Amino acid sequence: MVFARKRFGQNFLHDPGVIAQIIEAIDPQPGESLVEIGPGRGALTEPLLELCDGLDAIEIDRDLAAELQQRFGARGLTLHVCDALKFDFAMLAHARGRKLRVIGNLPYNVSTPLLFHLLDHRASIFDLHVMLQREVIERICAAPGNGDYGRLTVMLAPWVTAEHLFDVGPGAFRPAPQVWSAVARLTVRETPAFPVDARYDRVVSAAFSQRRKTLRNALRALLEADAIAACEIDPGARPETLSPEEFGRLARAVSEPLA
Ligand code: SAM
Repeated sequence: MVFARKRFGQNFLHDPGVIAQIIEAIDPQPGESLVEIGPGRGALTEPLLELCDGLDAIEIDRDLAAELQQRFGARGLTLHVCDALKFDFAMLAHARGRKLRVIGNLPYNVSTPLLFHLLDHRASIFDLHVMLQREVIERICAAPGNGDYGRLTVMLAPWVTAEHLFDVGPGAFRPAPQVWSAVARLTVRETPAFPVDARYDRVVSAAFSQRRKTLRNALRALLEADAIAACEIDPGARPETLSPEEFGRLARAVSEPLA
């Protein structure tokens, strides 16, 4: 029986085949700066340290951090014992002198805020390999018109390209979670796919908070139907049918400054 803290979303990976698949997908190269979020009992940490000169890791659980320090402190692991939601990835990238490659079998209870925190630090990140609940990965990678397509997909789209790499069953973890997981690669774009500013978040959030409504109704407080039509977008369309680029066009039609 593995002692695991539910409040920290602890499900520890133990399947050697899945661990090897993740390490192969990351394909660490000499000279890169890798940072692992939530190393836990070191399932990914150990093989990563065999391939890298050094590794940063962020772990919130002090007991696990003490174990990790003892096992890997002399083998190149630099531990940051803190909440990844508050971690300054920009400062770490500055200290390491290069963009970071972020890795994590992430705590599922904080996965969406953590992805948004990482997105805020995108200028300091080269790519991310993340294991999450499969339905979250499906939302990140969904195409317009798909039932999984929503705010998360559209908010990430200007900044990253997302690939759903493979699924992982509950049996790969101890304790076994109740849901399937999946691994995705998110590669930060060198330049955004289209121009984005604060209006994008406002438009996307408004659109998806009223998912069943048409754009005309969901965006009523931000854009008149005529202004939507002037973007060559049907005001009668439903938000989940629009591409991220079309949301970008709508956002740029919102007059500044925002109230
Ligand atoms: N990487 C390990 C593995 O694959 O077996 C553990 C994965 S477990 C799903 C999530 C890990 O993230 C745990 O070690 C947990 O303590 C840690 N964690 C949870 N919330 C965290 C947070 N906000 N910041 C940093 N680490 C966190």
